Amino acid sequence: MKEQDSNELVKLGHKLYPTNYKPRSVVFESGKGSEIWGLDGTRYLDFGSGIGVTCLGHCNPEILEVIRNQSDKLWHTSNFYFSKPPIRLAEEIVNRTFAEKVYFCNSGAEANEAAIKIARRYSHNNFGPKKRTILTFEGSFHGRTLAAVTATAQPKYHVGFEPLPAGFRYCKFNDLENFKKLFRNDVCAVLLEPIQGEGGIRPFSIEFLQQARNLCDQNHALLIFDEVQCGMGRTGKLFAYEWADGVVPDIVTVAKSFGAGLPIGAALLGKEVSHTLPLGSHGSTFGGNPVCCAVARVVWEKASSSKFLQQIENKGEFLFGLLAGINSKFQIFSEIRGKGLMIGAEFNAELGDIAPQVLNSCLENNLLVLQSGTRVLRLLPAYTISLEEIAEGVKRLEKVLEHFC
Ligand code: PLP
Repeated sequence: MKEQDSNELVKLGHKLYPTNYKPRSVVFESGKGSEIWGLDGTRYLDFGSGIGVTCLGHCNPEILEVIRNQSDKLWHTSNFYFSKPPIRLAEEIVNRTFAEKVYFCNSGAEANEAAIKIARRYSHNNFGPKKRTILTFEGSFHGRTLAAVTATAQPKYHVGFEPLPAGFRYCKFNDLENFKKLFRNDVCAVLLEPIQGEGGIRPFSIEFLQQARNLCDQNHALLIFDEVQCGMGRTGKLFAYEWADGVVPDIVTVAKSFGAGLPIGAALLGKEVSHTLPLGSHGSTFGGNPVCCAVARVVWEKASSSKFLQQIENKGEFLFGLLAGINSKFQIFSEIRGKGLMIGAEFNAELGDIAPQVLNSCLENNLLVLQSGTRVLRLLPAYTISLEEIAEGVKRLEKVLEHFC
């Protein structure tokens, strides 16, 4: 297809889609690994993976094979019946983690919605109607459904959607004193991302995570980790909370990388909450879709393998080192942070809100990157990216950043 067709599609897309998105003027047609091609044949390097989703690269042949095999057999049953892929996947999850049961759904927001409902129901069953409040943290992002967006302690996402559901209280990020102060008797759960994604690739300290567990235990509250972005091997551990020795949550939510590009989410339920939901109290038509679950099983197997996780960590260190090299030349970042292949580089404050412009310039230089807010460059490449591709992408990034110094 010619560029003219691409322009026509861009125009049509703008006309037909609602105004909540503002896609860049590129129409992608195919991808392979960390490369992705536009309709006009231009090749791009992908350091964003569709916001941390295509973790095994585009059109991964192993995944393709699994999709083909499963889609030859069975696509959907609904939760009135069993099928093999979700049972096998749940079995592997339970064998490897704290979880005793797995609730399948389709997205991160839905997984968090389930976690919130389970926490409320658990508290209702055990402590009556007064213990309803869920503590969340400034800078968090938990999704766009009304409860998940209310849990998201960023007022810009709330504007105009009021009245918001009651029962959420916002704590300062990583601030133990403030957290303790707001942890009153009415708290039924604490929900946090061990490493905030949209909030700027900001890790909670290990001490904070340990204290969160202690305070939850002392106050009969549940500890919920949203690992939608930082889980599934992204940081070089299966779950980011595993960096904090000894901390075991009650619920963990996953999505994004879990499906490697297919829509699937899940809430992993520990012993305490595993019998909370009575018959008919919650559900999802597509939850446990056999094709998505067959794919997620491949991701799960890889993200549970220490060898696979080690190479994620190694690649992350390589990328981190190259970014540090750029910074020693240009002094453009105030901080580079993150773990594994979840890296954020915060621009110096005096440069202002330059992340969106940097994104546009990277696109012009055939590199896809992400931002967190307007001052942090966010990189979430596929776990399968090669060292050569990392080096090539960073070279392009360096060329772009030179103009911002
Ligand atoms: N939780 C976290 C930490 C996320 O980063 C996101 C999405 O960016 C969500 C939840 C929402 O996931 P979804 O867009 O699949 O609903």
